[in-house]
Amino acid sequence: MKEPILIKNINCISCPAGCNIEVEFDGKKILSVSGNQCKKGWKFTEDEIINPRRILTTTVSINSDSILRLPVRSNIGAPKEKIIRMVKELKKVKVEVPVKMGDVILNNILTSGVDIISSMSVEN
Ligand code: SF4
Repeated sequence: MKEPILIKNINCISCPAGCNIEVEFDGKKILSVSGNQCKKGWKFTEDEIINPRRILTTTVSINSDSILRLPVRSNIGAPKEKIIRMVKELKKVKVEVPVKMGDVILNNILTSGVDIISSMSVEN
């Protein structure tokens, strides 16, 4: 029988407690989780190991007189393995003013289900 892979020192960032969680993972599924003070720790750990996601923040080109680049971010966590390709995709984007904070700049980027939205409003 294959030995489970032991992964240590995953910090749950779902709340300020910042539990240090120890996980047993067999390469396909989580076998056990310890060190978490609540159930969210299991979900966080599972997501972090099996499907890690991060909020993507970057800037895109804009035809503005007031700023050089428009700050944008993903509306939800983006799959970590697609982030570099997403940033490359966003280099092709040029936003026309006016734009409002929260406007969708790129819908469903790389068919990930993630939208890229404006982080600020720009009038001109
Ligand atoms: S496991 Fe629960 S208590 Fe601990 S950091 Fe995560 S959400 Fe907070």
